Amino acid sequence: MKLPRSIRGYCPHCNKHVDLEVERVKNRPRSELRRGQRRFRRVTAGYGGFPRPKPEGREKPTKRVHLRYRCKACKKAHQRVGIRAKKFELVEVHA
Ligand SMILES: [Zn+2]
Repeated sequence: MKLPRSIRGYCPHCNKHVDLEVERVKNRPRSELRRGQRRFRRVTAGYGGFPRPKPEGREKPTKRVHLRYRCKACKKAHQRVGIRAKKFELVEVHA
């Protein structure tokens, strides 16, 4: 799936339709200070196995793509529900 890098859409901060910049949300390195990461470190330390079950069954044929929409007027960003796609690409659109 291809999507333009810049679209027109609703900005919940400005409460109107504006030009939005689309960026793909990347995984950030896990913060060692977060509650879940602290628990993970504690549980995996020492004896005893991994705290989560092994993934079973098939892998999903499509992955959910998360996008962040940044308003060009107020510079604030919001996210929508991710879209599922096999391949995803942000493209430049020349009008
Ligand atoms: Zn805005």
